[in-house]
Amino acid sequence: MTARTRWRPAYIGVGSNLQSPARQVESAIGRLTEIRQTRLVRASSLYRSAPFGGIEQPDFVNAVAAVLTRLEPDALLTHLHAIEAASGRERDDARWGPRVLDLDLLAYSDREIATPGLTVPHPGIGERNFVLLPLGEIAPDLVIPGLGRVAGIPVNMDEPSISRIA
Ligand code: ADP
Ligand code: MG
Repeated sequence: MTARTRWRPAYIGVGSNLQSPARQVESAIGRLTEIRQTRLVRASSLYRSAPFGGIEQPDFVNAVAAVLTRLEPDALLTHLHAIEAASGRERDDARWGPRVLDLDLLAYSDREIATPGLTVPHPGIGERNFVLLPLGEIAPDLVIPGLGRVAGIPVNMDEPSISRIA
């Protein structure tokens, strides 16, 4: 008998600031349900935040989704990149610049990964309110390796304002 792979929890950050961002975020969350060996468990509200990093660009809409998956983290990330590409995102978009869709693997079970293509937990969790607030809404008790319980991670008071929109 073959051993069955376990279902593991993973958290995915979703962001957009182009081409009807709220619609892009909702549609990306819908597409997460199409990833093989993966189940969408919960999605946060949508949040609007002013852009970060000094580039003049539209506000962002962000959300976080919780999934259960039997895929390994790199395989899950490949699916996330495919969903980004299908949205029309250009891979050479400037870092911090405008994008149709950004999907980040925020956390994967209790794993810590540091390879050239994948850093988990995602460094944004402790640094960006647009990740921390929606994640805290759906998983306040989640323990992030290196940071502790999500609800205990301090929000960054010097960041642009963020508000819940839906
Ligand atoms: P960012 O999300 O930091 O604004 P990108 O979406 O352009 O930037 O991602 C750049 C690269 O970051 C991706 O090609 C991917 O390989 C890498 N990366 C490293 N860790 C992660 C992660 N946890 N989730 C998503 N991408 C990651
Ligand atoms: Mg990204």
